[in-house]
Amino acid sequence: MLSRRKCINLDITSTCTLECPDCQREVYKQKGLKVPGHNMSIKDFKIVYNYFEEISFCGQISDPIFNPNFIDMLKICHDRKVNIHTAASHKSWDWYMEAFDACPHARWEFGLDGLPKESSTYRKNQDGIKIFDLMVEGKKRGIKMVWQYIAFDYNKDSVNEARQIAKKEGIKFNLIEQYYKQGSSPHKKAWIAPK
Ligand code: SF4
Repeated sequence: MLSRRKCINLDITSTCTLECPDCQREVYKQKGLKVPGHNMSIKDFKIVYNYFEEISFCGQISDPIFNPNFIDMLKICHDRKVNIHTAASHKSWDWYMEAFDACPHARWEFGLDGLPKESSTYRKNQDGIKIFDLMVEGKKRGIKMVWQYIAFDYNKDSVNEARQIAKKEGIKFNLIEQYYKQGSSPHKKAWIAPK
């Protein structure tokens, strides 16, 4: 008899258009290495899907929106709990609408680190205004939307304003305050300590 486990997280591609300085992708790039991974096929996805009650698409070195099969995977997940974590903004508006509609009960968590105009300080190449507009539009369509906000020195004074904006739009606000003691990245040193 098939026994389903609770949850799995999948990194379903090797692509991302952002260049967040502390991402593991940057380590591969600095060493001149190819970022590992590939686009997971629908065939392989179905095998994994059969064994789990909840599926998370939270890429550690990629963004799930770049797997060309992603919308079809979302359609398959109509009877599963689904979490999507994304920060890249390089898909068309229509593509996002199709993805929202493909699995209307999915929970989308967008990485927007600061007010929309300042998020690209860390999320390099990101169109923060587009991400914010997508969250607002998704919420209007009844999709569960979460604004993930990592606190850095450059955005820590905007936290309250962002929280108020999220509240006004009915978007859940997930503030992440972390403190990295190691590492040479200036961004790591800038992360603020939890209170
Ligand atoms: S969005 Fe995620 S995968 Fe892409 S560069 Fe940033 S941390 Fe890495």
